[in-house]
Amino acid sequence: MWTRPDATRTSTVKPPAVSRPRLNIDLDAVARNYRFLAEQSGRAETGATIKADAYGLGAERIAPVLEDAGCRTFFVAHAQEGAALRTFLKQPDSVIYVYNGLFESEEDYFFAHRLRPVLNSLDQIDLWRAVSARAAGGPPAALHIDTGMNRLGLSPEETRALAAEPQRLEDVRLSLLMSHLACADEAAHSMNPRQLKTFREAARALPETPRLSLANSAGCFLGEDYGFDLTRPGIALYGGNPVSGETPALSPVVSVAAPILQTRRLKAGDPVGYGAEFTAPGDMLAVTVALGYADGFLRAGAHGGYGTLEGARLPIIGRVSMDLIVLDASSCAGIAEPGRRVRFFGGDLEAQADAAGTISYELLTRLGERFDRVYEGG
Ligand SMILES: *Cc1c(COP(=O)(O)O)cnc(C)c1O
Repeated sequence: MWTRPDATRTSTVKPPAVSRPRLNIDLDAVARNYRFLAEQSGRAETGATIKADAYGLGAERIAPVLEDAGCRTFFVAHAQEGAALRTFLKQPDSVIYVYNGLFESEEDYFFAHRLRPVLNSLDQIDLWRAVSARAAGGPPAALHIDTGMNRLGLSPEETRALAAEPQRLEDVRLSLLMSHLACADEAAHSMNPRQLKTFREAARALPETPRLSLANSAGCFLGEDYGFDLTRPGIALYGGNPVSGETPALSPVVSVAAPILQTRRLKAGDPVGYGAEFTAPGDMLAVTVALGYADGFLRAGAHGGYGTLEGARLPIIGRVSMDLIVLDASSCAGIAEPGRRVRFFGGDLEAQADAAGTISYELLTRLGERFDRVYEGG
């Protein structure tokens, strides 16, 4: 007979894990991917881009694993991400750069958490110079030159102005000159050599020549010229394939295992899900799993999306709901039963992203908060 748990003890009763989708994150695979990227990067130091909570995977668990693999330079987008990262890192000398730069009144925060701002404009240079003159011993900064992406960093005009007026950089301790590639995923794209040339010219024209950094994940596969002193891979660390048309030897990091909640025998003409968008063409076995768009499985991924059960492919049928997806398990009669888990992502993260009309970056950073997160290895 079921008895109500003692109210004083309910807080120690674990939340249900069987009926919840599980998110497996393989920390050893992250370390393997880091070492693989370090091999690709030749003599350049290999850093890690760990913005957006390590692309949704949890910077708290990922950062120490990267440090153990040898990483000492980390990149985040926001200063708050950097402050959190500082508490996750074990090595006091690990360096944190903040891509999005800083504005007036934010400098104390950078000092307090030993964050290095990436200066993206002449205004930010002037601000950091004033701050650095006031307080000695603060962190150095990176300078970001826009070499053609027109997104962030000093514009060509600003870069020329700075080269002509080098005293503007006096008292600004620069530790890095960086730029970002727009089309590195397409190795043959003409933007790559063009940006490389512009970057080299800017480095020559500017007064100091601190360390240089150009390559994101895809840039690590463009050859030695693009490595410079420091690379900044992100997605490849997390198992996403950064290049189109080939598959580097990266290990999958993330897989989702969603439990089957119910099975249904369908007959020809039976509709499935919202909008009755799918109708069974004949006898089918449908399974309903606990995974939905609230968990980051995009509605757009329904057409062409699938899960796998014991290696068999289960196509999604009907629409993706907030908490549920229905799949065609006709090929798995006998094993498709409530409690069994259907896998998503894993080795085919890119195929699932394709099916949803997006990229692995978006799938990872959308992963929701309801998962039973299980970290393996590390
Ligand atoms: C996000 C980001 C990276 C990492 O890019 P990946 O494609 O994930 O390797 C590197 N540099 C900058 C400036 C970025 O914004």
